[in-house]
Amino acid sequence: MSTVRTFKKDAARVASDLNHRRIIQFNMSKYDAAVCAGKERYDNLKLAKETASSIKDNVMERLPHFLETFEINAINNGTEVRWAENSTDLIEQLSHILQVEETKMLVKSKSMVTEEVELNYHLENIGIKSVETDLGEFIVQEAGEKPYHIVTPAMHKSKQDIADLFHERYQIAKDLTAEELTGFVRNLLRTKFIHADVGITGANFLCANEGVVAVTENEGNALLSASFPKLHIVITGIEKVIPSIEQLPLFWPLLAAHGTGQQLTVYSNLFFGPKKADEIDGPERMIVFLLDNKRSEIYTDKSIQKSLKCIRCGACLNACPVYKNIGGYSYATTYSGPIGSVLSPHFKNFGEYNHLSFASSLCGKCEEVCPVKIPLTNMLLYNRQAAQEYQTVVDRSVNTILYKVLSSRILMNVFGGWIKNNLLTMVRNNTIGKQKKLSPFAAKTFNQQWKKHIKR
Ligand code: SF4
Repeated sequence: MSTVRTFKKDAARVASDLNHRRIIQFNMSKYDAAVCAGKERYDNLKLAKETASSIKDNVMERLPHFLETFEINAINNGTEVRWAENSTDLIEQLSHILQVEETKMLVKSKSMVTEEVELNYHLENIGIKSVETDLGEFIVQEAGEKPYHIVTPAMHKSKQDIADLFHERYQIAKDLTAEELTGFVRNLLRTKFIHADVGITGANFLCANEGVVAVTENEGNALLSASFPKLHIVITGIEKVIPSIEQLPLFWPLLAAHGTGQQLTVYSNLFFGPKKADEIDGPERMIVFLLDNKRSEIYTDKSIQKSLKCIRCGACLNACPVYKNIGGYSYATTYSGPIGSVLSPHFKNFGEYNHLSFASSLCGKCEEVCPVKIPLTNMLLYNRQAAQEYQTVVDRSVNTILYKVLSSRILMNVFGGWIKNNLLTMVRNNTIGKQKKLSPFAAKTFNQQWKKHIKR
């Protein structure tokens, strides 16, 4: 089945799944309340967003310069910096390093980029066990699933779903509280941290002037992944660079407020490189992988370049009425929701994934909530325009006919309500699914009704 057909089928199924809707509405309502309170802590949120947006605009104007600065300063700190052109390049370089290090098991935390390159799958193929250590990621890994959401990977699961899953996997009682379940996972993962050969994390920000990797988190797993194993590997996209550590007091709270409603996440880590001669803790070696994977192509296209400003807070997903109805998995991409609908067609195959740009009502809520003011609506429209090139002859003919008929009163009057309703039902069944109720056309045309009205 083609990607677009699978998308339509999955979206229609999920949108009518009342249990899914109940769980998402419950989890989103908690998010909404927390974020609302988080934003109220700001005296001037508008100014904070404008400042963050303008810093990111500045980075976009000189991205190569900031990346080179980061590289020079990171190397000066003793960190090895490697560039990866695409997923294959990254996997090849990384596999080589891990094999030389005789890695058997690694721990991983806070990295959507590793999902983008399907790292776990590739590691499994070379006999390396990769253990997700963030609770949400751990849950979906145990369930054999992928993250549902970029910030809350297990948002689609209720507490009971998780208890049932752990009961099945680890034979623990089914009636544990949320705290007891968390405690169980924490204990389980402690031994993994101790025995892991390598720790992999992502990066929220790369501070160019200091060559530092900034990672923000709530559970402390990124810190443990980076400090217990003797090798710490950071895998991140090239767009994560900011000028300096000095901007973190702006970006960290902004990310926390929009991502989870917190003033600041519980842990704010700065990784300055491997441990120094006079230090007791930390990895003996630190490597940063800077992944391109089509980001340079996006960078050179001015119409979508600013999508690279994204700080992955997830706010646009939570605000999107389409995301809330069709859920994260319908997109079948690492990045879902509005930002995913902009980026994913470019990250993947535009011909195959451009339908995602149509998965939006264009209500504008996504760009209203975006902390770095990304003009998502215009970018979705830009993608839609570019998608014209990939329309099949059938799609093009149907669209042309529809346009002609819908814009002509004479043609609209040719058929009565019965034929129009049947045509519309046929289109609905093949696009948005049978579950969607349609407003029926009236039996008589507008002109017929108007004439009758005048005669009265
Ligand atoms: S586009 Fe904006 S709102 Fe959406 S995840 Fe990125 S930063 Fe957050």
